[in-house]
Amino acid sequence: MRYSGFRVIKEALTGHKGWKPVWREPEPKSHYDVIIIGGGGHGLATAHYLSKVYGQRNVAVVEKGWIGGGNVGRNTTIVRSNYLLDGNEPFYEFSLKLWEGLEQDVNYNAMMSQRGIINLFHTDGQRDAYIRRGNAMILNGADAELLDADQVRAEHPYLNFEDARFPIKGGLVQRRAGTARHDAVAWGYARSADLHGVDIIQNCEVTGLRIENGTCLGVETSKGFIGASKVGCAVAGNSGRVMGMAGMRLPIESHVLQAFVSEGLKPVLPSVITFGAGHFYVSQSDKGGLVFGGDIDGYNTYAQRGNLPVVEDVCEGGMALMPMIGRARLLRMWGGVMDMSMDGSPIIDRTPVQGLYFNGGWCYGGFKATPASGYCFAHLLAKDEPHPVATAYRLDRFRTGRMIDEKGAGNQPNLH
Ligand SMILES: Cc1cc2nc3c(=O)[nH]c(=O)nc-3n(C[C@H](O)[C@H](O)[C@H](O)COP(=O)(O)OP(=O)(O)OC[C@H]3O[C@@H](n4cnc5c(N)ncnc54)[C@H](O)[C@@H]3O)c2cc1C
Repeated sequence: MRYSGFRVIKEALTGHKGWKPVWREPEPKSHYDVIIIGGGGHGLATAHYLSKVYGQRNVAVVEKGWIGGGNVGRNTTIVRSNYLLDGNEPFYEFSLKLWEGLEQDVNYNAMMSQRGIINLFHTDGQRDAYIRRGNAMILNGADAELLDADQVRAEHPYLNFEDARFPIKGGLVQRRAGTARHDAVAWGYARSADLHGVDIIQNCEVTGLRIENGTCLGVETSKGFIGASKVGCAVAGNSGRVMGMAGMRLPIESHVLQAFVSEGLKPVLPSVITFGAGHFYVSQSDKGGLVFGGDIDGYNTYAQRGNLPVVEDVCEGGMALMPMIGRARLLRMWGGVMDMSMDGSPIIDRTPVQGLYFNGGWCYGGFKATPASGYCFAHLLAKDEPHPVATAYRLDRFRTGRMIDEKGAGNQPNLH
């Protein structure tokens, strides 16, 4: 069934009796060409591109809970491609281009909204760094614009320009950036993958990897053994756990990141805003809530909830940037488990185990990467070679010293 305005009108006039389940609930087959572990954004996007672009139909996504229950449904929904380094910027720009056509591609409303992002700067040194980043973006085909303080004030008059401890000196803007409805992205990819023959198997936890003579033969699950010619792991914050089943210790730590939503307000924020003198980012949802977040909690955990010191730190950042946020009541907050890599950049690569592939290390920026990550992982699984925009995301770069340290923070995962 294709979704369209015509379909909505037809169903409205016929009592909404024609809607079909958005995806099937199949029982696992005994063997697949490809099994993807993890029904988050990245796993489902991989299944979509693997089936639609690379023509592989004998594919399953195995999810321990329900699809969209992980970070893909927990993030602050920001999509952008404002990166500096060569290893990253072409990949994230490829991703943004896929975002721009995503809803047509999967025939699903993901509420993609290119409302723009502004990264504020507060010092001359920070301005110079943002100019450099903007130039790197433009060289890679992305859009970037530098605003001075007056231009920022004209667009965002509610920010603190009067008595700010860190006065706003300007901002780097990417107009094509924005937000997308996070769980709809999972549903859209799932629906499309299902339509192309992919089995999406929910409530099926991978409990082991069957490996014989250095080759992965399939996955042990709570629904029994499922054989596969290739197994791709895309479990984000659980990467260490699942790859540990193959005896691998990853250059990744798991940390919790919290997000917050205020009560609904009238439209006040036209774009995504990031504070340059602390870690705070905010946008406004279509329902009016201010959606915001900041730093990870900073200790290793698999828990999906955080602690009060970081709540205080995030809210201080909000108050420093836009004091009016202090008048809004907090409606909801939650946490997600982040796969923080040593250099802050991801991994999409084969592993030393034949037939076992890995996708992870997304830190807290993996939502924007969802389309490109899925595309590049599908490419790797189908062709056994990296996609041209993902050649730098190698697992062995930590051994060879080819770090992609976007923040320049060193090999310390809790700082990225
Ligand atoms: C609070 C918060 C805010 C964020 N904000 C942003 C943002 O604004 N922009 C941005 O780009 N990124 C953001 N991120 C990061 C982004 O959400 C993640 O990097 C990305 O969603 C991770 O990929 P995923 O969607 O595949 O993960 P997930 O949705 O977590 O998918 C992994 C799946 O694997 C499943 N799984 C785990 N173990 C097993 C197993 N043994 N067997 C079977 N299945 C298993 C899990 O149940 C889960 O569904 C944020 C994250 C959080 C938590």
